[in-house]
Amino acid sequence: MEETSRRAGFASAAAFAEAYALKPYRLTQLYRSATKELVDGIDAISVLPRDLRDKLIAEGMELESVAPVVIQRSNDKQTSKGLFRLHDGNEVEAVLMEHWGDRTTVCISSQAGCAYACAFCSTGQAGYTRNLTAVEIFDQARFFARELKTRNKKITNIVFMGQGEPFANYDAVMGAVRLLNDPNGFGLGHRHITISTVGLVPQIEKFADEGVQVNLAISLHAPTDEQRSSIMPVNRKFKVDELMRACANYATKTRRKIFFEYVMLEGVNDDDASAKALAKLMRGHLYHVNLIPYNSTPDAPLRGTSEERVRAFQKILDAAGVPTTVRTPMGRDIAAACGQLRAETQPKARKIPVAL
Ligand code: SAH
Repeated sequence: MEETSRRAGFASAAAFAEAYALKPYRLTQLYRSATKELVDGIDAISVLPRDLRDKLIAEGMELESVAPVVIQRSNDKQTSKGLFRLHDGNEVEAVLMEHWGDRTTVCISSQAGCAYACAFCSTGQAGYTRNLTAVEIFDQARFFARELKTRNKKITNIVFMGQGEPFANYDAVMGAVRLLNDPNGFGLGHRHITISTVGLVPQIEKFADEGVQVNLAISLHAPTDEQRSSIMPVNRKFKVDELMRACANYATKTRRKIFFEYVMLEGVNDDDASAKALAKLMRGHLYHVNLIPYNSTPDAPLRGTSEERVRAFQKILDAAGVPTTVRTPMGRDIAAACGQLRAETQPKARKIPVAL
């Protein structure tokens, strides 16, 4: 409820209710309609009296903090990518993936742009603009949940793997997690949510004390400092050793499995020695490696690893007893990789270097 009121620029639910002269139970009805019943707009909230709805609309209240600009669907219909405009003109992307059965995943953005400048990432190349609010993050999920509802489907998984670094916008991301999880609202279980981070050590430590069963994914992408620093500037601040120590502490404290993301880049991180060094980092822990085929971006002179080489790399990890999955690329025909659609429509943001 607090988050909903902040959507309209109020400091608290009480201030929001006062401004619109709403009784607390009306506020609850509004919140439930938006987050649980997933109504299209205020006009559709039939539990509110007609004159109250008209008044709220006349006063400029809106349910949506993100407006779809373009929605693209892949040829196989399994991937839908949305470009959304925020009230200040910034744009972010979110992607819906429909897997086998009823399983669906929505990938959402936590920031407009990103300050971490990973060499392989289109968002990182375009620079950072601003943090999203909890509601702006949540509303990307709400949009796709409404769309799925028209086809009697639901969101089963949410991943914070869109634009931005979730742990650089920690409080708003936790606010969005509360909105997604609220049993009186959206009602998605913590275990169905994954936060992916570039590897911000202080926030990994904080997250370990959060007491939530949300999954943690770490964008590792290389096993040595030399390799990692060459593609991820953040590694100059948080070295592989320090990152792995924070992960081990998190795993001990929470007893939760950690997922490590590893984008396969030809000649950068895909040789046998890298696989062996990665296996060494993973050994003895409840860790899982996701090998990710690279979605090439126009800005980066990098190439993805061949399928054959990915399999050889995976074999080395298998032999060392490290569980792996090769992620299936989806939506390549609609530029569904991070930052690609926004890069096509928006001029580059002012480049703000990573805060080291
Ligand atoms: N900032 C967070 C979340 C956003 S990126 C993070 O770094 O984890 C989500 C994932 O997509 C990361 O693992 C990232 O490395 C990966 N990614 C970014 N660009 C990619 C590309 N062009 N191809 C494949 N994966 C990419």
